[in-house]
Amino acid sequence: MVFETELVLTLEQSAQDGFLERALSAQLDKKNEPFTFRILRRSIDARGRAVKWNYKIKVYTNGAEPEPEYAKRDFQPVQSNRRVVIVGAGPAGLFAALKLIEAGVKPIIVERGKDVRARRRDLAAIHKEHRVNPDSNYCFGEGGAGTYSDGKLYTRSTKRGDVRSVLETLVQFGASTDILIDAHPHIGTNKLPGIIAAMRESIIACGGEVHFQSRVEDIVLDGALVSALRLSDGRLVSGDAYILATGHSARDIYELLYKRQVALEFKPFAMGVRAEHPQSLIDANQYHCSVRPDSLPAASYSLVHQVGGLGVYSFCMCPGGIIAPCATAPGEVVTNGWSPSKRNNPWANSGIVVPVHYDHLGAFQQYGVLGGMYYQRALEQACHVAAGATQAAPAQRLTDFIERRTSSVIPKTSYQPGVVPCDFNTLLPEHIGYHLREGFKAFGKKMKGYVSDEAVIVGPESRTSSPVRIPRDSEGLHHPQLQNLYPCAEGGGYAGGIVSAAMDGERVALAAAARILI
Ligand SMILES: Cc1cc2nc3c(=O)[nH]c(=O)nc-3n(C[C@H](O)[C@H](O)[C@H](O)COP(=O)(O)OP(=O)(O)OC[C@H]3O[C@@H](n4cnc5c(N)ncnc54)[C@H](O)[C@@H]3O)c2cc1C
Repeated sequence: MVFETELVLTLEQSAQDGFLERALSAQLDKKNEPFTFRILRRSIDARGRAVKWNYKIKVYTNGAEPEPEYAKRDFQPVQSNRRVVIVGAGPAGLFAALKLIEAGVKPIIVERGKDVRARRRDLAAIHKEHRVNPDSNYCFGEGGAGTYSDGKLYTRSTKRGDVRSVLETLVQFGASTDILIDAHPHIGTNKLPGIIAAMRESIIACGGEVHFQSRVEDIVLDGALVSALRLSDGRLVSGDAYILATGHSARDIYELLYKRQVALEFKPFAMGVRAEHPQSLIDANQYHCSVRPDSLPAASYSLVHQVGGLGVYSFCMCPGGIIAPCATAPGEVVTNGWSPSKRNNPWANSGIVVPVHYDHLGAFQQYGVLGGMYYQRALEQACHVAAGATQAAPAQRLTDFIERRTSSVIPKTSYQPGVVPCDFNTLLPEHIGYHLREGFKAFGKKMKGYVSDEAVIVGPESRTSSPVRIPRDSEGLHHPQLQNLYPCAEGGGYAGGIVSAAMDGERVALAAAARILI
């Protein structure tokens, strides 16, 4: 017999060896009946004073065998000479390439950055020498912005594709099977590069091509078709179709499309700061304890508060994490966050952001569809100047931000290039500053100690999503003007996060394959 059941265990019970087996055994009809089981879902319930683990479990009795834990995809060498050029080796580009291989089409990936290993040196240069390589940084390079991220895999975009299949693919390339059962799965910065490299090796083994340090600089048009892409070294690369998976930070791509009169649209986005607290403070609040028991992971939070019709909300919260310098060009400062698989750093950080609509752009409306992008960049450049024109970032105690005064001393933060006391009230656009202050006050009422002298804000958190949408046909998924150009994922304005970007990459790959295999 095979059946599913649910169990709720206290922390003590779940820490006991064999407790789960004994609890399941007690549910069986016959005493001592042999059985096996598989955990389908695992989540923490911290709503009550006593934190509990919830389990959903499948039980197999009478010799029934558990099915394989996940379905392995079978990638075979591509035989056809049909080829699709994919710009960008982020989650969207890599998952698109794998999908094309399954469809029998050869993927040619062109990526401006370096492979995951070489990329590391450029990240070190940002931290230690304050040097930003515009082609190799936290956003650009193999694996895209997802490589040195927290690797949170939770998505609300469940209707946009097969989330389970994306997770299973990550497991196939080396992620822990835990991501298949955890309610809020994450991989960790230390594990992601190996998974990305394994995906690339598989793509190449199946006849795909991956070209690093190959930035697309121009697009060659032939009526309603793209006929080739020009790379930074002058080479032309061509295919039957082109997938644009360049992420939200490829400003030169938006400028290029604009210059070539390829239609673009303004897209609302959000900006703000990154708030950092001692992880112990978040744990104490979320788990109602003075010290987090070893059996529980570093706690996360999700906060939202409406201020006059605009939501102030937490974004990309990284428990046990580090604030990362994510600029993609010299002369700007950008923050984001990551955490290792164990989430064992002493800090918790999260973006706290406010929506930016076209009406908020003010003078930047003169740039039309690119106004949001230049609005973002102006804040990043102002923060760069304010913090001394290095990769050091402006910072302020949260209490001082709310009281509108510059902090004399900033507590130690996780941001490695260093921080400089500044007043975000003068740096941020007025509507963002106002909404953040009101939002933080409300968060302070929801979570004890959230607004305290230990809390620091570092910023700006300016790259939450793309400020531009590249339109596409709702059915064919190609650009309305260009029949063989497929804008996709975060850069196209169709995804936000690793899983949704991967799913969108798969969708456009299938659309492109369908078009060229007719
Ligand atoms: C520090 C950090 C932490 C994050 N944490 C999480 C998280 O925990 N969970 C989550 O879901 N999301 C997270 N994100 C967001 C996530 O990484 C992105 O949503 C996701 O990577 C978007 O995928 P993408 O493939 O659309 O674009 P990207 O990952 O941005 O990839 C685009 C690729 O295109 C390349 N490219 C750009 N322009 C060109 C050009 N002209 N020529 C050739 N190549 C080009 C870039 O080098 C890049 O590799 C994080 C992002 C950052 C920066």
